[in-house]
Amino acid sequence: MQFDIITIFPNIFSSYFNESILKRAQRKKKIKIIIHNLRDYANDKHKTVDDRPYGGGPGMLMKIEPIYKCLKSIKKLKHHKIILLSAKGKSFNQSLAKTFAKLQQIIFICGHYEGVDERVIKYIDEEISIGNYVLTGGEIPAMAVIDAITRLIPGVLGDADSPKEETFSKNLDYIEYPHYTRPESFKNQNVPGVLLSGNHEEINKWRKKKSKLRKS
Ligand code: SAM
Repeated sequence: MQFDIITIFPNIFSSYFNESILKRAQRKKKIKIIIHNLRDYANDKHKTVDDRPYGGGPGMLMKIEPIYKCLKSIKKLKHHKIILLSAKGKSFNQSLAKTFAKLQQIIFICGHYEGVDERVIKYIDEEISIGNYVLTGGEIPAMAVIDAITRLIPGVLGDADSPKEETFSKNLDYIEYPHYTRPESFKNQNVPGVLLSGNHEEINKWRKKKSKLRKS
């Protein structure tokens, strides 16, 4: 799967994408991440990507032309989506992560300042939000979405069963059972005896009982 990220802060991503599961996923060629510096598509010598909003008001807006030029320059694979990260977009969740994991390519547009000139809507497939709060830019949302999708791609996680039992895996109300590791006792809190019993039937029963449906 290929992720293309359009951003004015291309250096933000390197530490996260070069560690742990995302690093391994790239090394195993399960995913490819291409960062596009939006300033390379500005058409003036100052590499301007923002301007003042028509009608006045606070802050600056990202201009449409560099985004359009950048989008045009990206080679599209057959099954792709162009996503604008936006606080007012559709809420991202595990079910969307599963749907997106079936694509061949996602192109992310990371907004900044007050956001992006509304005319970008014509060139995108979806507007996605990672929650009901406002961040400074779309870079953290892009990383969150890429992370959630990548771990669902077959062969990315060491244990193929990991995503099957996780929170939200069966449905969006499903909460995974609790986990414990060594030591058996910590400041008067003991690991439930059944987990030490070696009786896998009983362990499975206990886990099933402890998995919950979320009451929100
Ligand atoms: N003025 C915008 C509004 O009221 O919705 C907020 C702009 S925000 C400061 C700048 C950029 O951060 C947005 O264009 C978007 O790309 C990104 N962003 C902020 N919060 C986000 C969220 N919850 N989910 C996805 N992207 C977000």
